[in-house]
Amino acid sequence: MLPGSPPRRHAPAAPCARRALPIFQARGRLLGQLRGLDCAILIGETGSGKTTQVPQYLYEAGIGRQGIIAVTQPRRVAAIALATRVSSERTTELGRLVGYSVRFEELSCEQTRIKFLTDGMLLREAIADPTLRCYSVVILDEAHERTIHTDVLLGVVKAAQKARRQQGRAPLKVIIMSATMDVDQFSQYFNGAPVLYLEGRQHPIQIFNTKQPQSDYLQAALVSVFQIHQEAPSSQDILVFLTGQEEIEAMSQSCRAIGRQLPAGCPRLLALPLYASLPYSQQLRVFQPAPKGCRKVILSTNIAETSITIPGIKFVVDTGMVKAKKYSPASGLEVLALQRVSQAQAWQRAGRAGREASGVCYRLYTQEEFDKLDRMTVPEIQRCNLASVVLHLLALRVPNVLTFDFMSKPSPEAIEAAIEQLDLLGAVERKEDQLVLTPLGRRMAAFPLEPKFSKTILMSPKFHCTEEILTIVSLLSADSVLYSPPARREEVQAVRRKFISSEGDHLTLLSIYRAFKNVSGNKDWCKENFVNSRNMMLVSDIRAQLRDICVKLSLPIESSRSDSTNVRRCLAHSLFMNAAELQPDGTYSTLDSHQLVAIHPSSVLFQCKPACVVYNTLLHTTKCYMRDLCVVDADWLYEAAPDYFRRKLRTARD
Ligand code: ADP
Ligand code: MG
Repeated sequence: MLPGSPPRRHAPAAPCARRALPIFQARGRLLGQLRGLDCAILIGETGSGKTTQVPQYLYEAGIGRQGIIAVTQPRRVAAIALATRVSSERTTELGRLVGYSVRFEELSCEQTRIKFLTDGMLLREAIADPTLRCYSVVILDEAHERTIHTDVLLGVVKAAQKARRQQGRAPLKVIIMSATMDVDQFSQYFNGAPVLYLEGRQHPIQIFNTKQPQSDYLQAALVSVFQIHQEAPSSQDILVFLTGQEEIEAMSQSCRAIGRQLPAGCPRLLALPLYASLPYSQQLRVFQPAPKGCRKVILSTNIAETSITIPGIKFVVDTGMVKAKKYSPASGLEVLALQRVSQAQAWQRAGRAGREASGVCYRLYTQEEFDKLDRMTVPEIQRCNLASVVLHLLALRVPNVLTFDFMSKPSPEAIEAAIEQLDLLGAVERKEDQLVLTPLGRRMAAFPLEPKFSKTILMSPKFHCTEEILTIVSLLSADSVLYSPPARREEVQAVRRKFISSEGDHLTLLSIYRAFKNVSGNKDWCKENFVNSRNMMLVSDIRAQLRDICVKLSLPIESSRSDSTNVRRCLAHSLFMNAAELQPDGTYSTLDSHQLVAIHPSSVLFQCKPACVVYNTLLHTTKCYMRDLCVVDADWLYEAAPDYFRRKLRTARD
């Protein structure tokens, strides 16, 4: 192309693909504006090129050359995929000019100038350096998702900006990027920062609601998929929004089974699952075009709502449901629950159908039901347990967590409840009327883990079982190492039997890990035993890193070998706030808020009735389920926190 000639709009060759993105038209204007601003908010449709192009534009224009350009992402898969993409667009090796940093995995070097990080990782870096010295630009991407880490980061970068200004140091440029229009709050929070709009390429979308409320959204989704499949040309793909891995895998099975029985002449159907913990290579399959005469049906969590753009989607089926955290400070219960999406999410989902041409969205709920949805999604920080956040803020030496400059303030009760939990874990104390971390709390903050799990590790020397606890915590920190294809259920159950411990899921996982190590991670062994070898390798990696932290903290690292009692005692001492007791009528009740709970069918204890258990999480679907359980003695729990249980018993009696 001659210098000065206008860029071609539809450049076919790969090197020109960057120029074909909608954002390219705005490059000059954008750079002009960003150059002069300390803070800006950038809005553009998903797929317009914000995430992959803006950091490159800044780099090419020499903006922020003095430091690294950070781009945060809510999900680790997205951070890695984007770093890979941008690195290949620059034809450099990943980890050189363009790198990434996600929990337990980092790929960057001295020369790295563009770094994709999960929001959680940037937050951890801020603990060591609150002014984020090595960065010249911080791009907070997917800000509309309002993850808890993004919300804390907003406050952290704002404070860092101010501190650097006051100290006369190089300024920190902050760019907030969002796919949705509702950004007034961001602008206000950053003292009226300007909002820059990118022109989108949204095509019209027809929306259909159901006439009647649907009692079974999964069934309704399946029916919609096959109705579309029998009527529309096979080149038009379908995207279905579901809530989680199990549901998605089950629906893929059903789609395949029904697909096999379709009459001859009907196009083939390719069901592709998509969720965050799916191995990356399998996630990539959704981007590949289906073979001729075959239709792709992508069954996805809300990961496809904004962070991933899939070509070829003509139809969206929106169940209107999402799995998200809910928290009640009064009861202290945090549950992962199936709930209705917000109107903003519903619009975002529908928008996925109009990326390349006009599209259709089937909402599996009535117009009246839509009208009753929350207008905006409530930010995560206002609906989850804040123990981690408060621990982080204290590690950042924030003088008063109750008055921290949050964009959306969590309720004071939620913060108080978090402080109380940290107090029970021995992580905080009052000094001259100020809340500070205890030496134990400071050590807890050294681990990239939830406070209850860092506490588990720090307690383990007392029970001589650090080796075992490191393995268990690592297993719980990675995506599931167990692979359970629903079609081969009986086989799975048969091979799992030899690992099952009557003492619960933690110890069962531990024995699977030991077996994996005994065969040195042999791939065939993994296949035969339905173990996800990639995730197992990651567990091994995580374990090595956690062990390093223990060594740095001079923790004695011992193994309890075959004695599992100590391991369970250690878990009881750190998970005592997540405990439940068997009731005379055969149900379970949580010790701390007397909530009715049940053992999740995925647990090895599902058919058993242990008297007393601790669990990792609560999941609310049809019932409130405990997941990942360990059998403990009630005495151990009282031993772990006598005051707490005395107090709980008193309130129960009152
Ligand atoms: P935005 O951040 O505005 O949603 P991105 O910068 O992430 O947009 O993506 C811009 C375009 O780049 C997408 O529409 C897609 O065509 C392409 N793209 C991004 N990542 C990948 C990838 N991993 N593989 C193939 N194409 C990609
Ligand atoms: Mg993006």
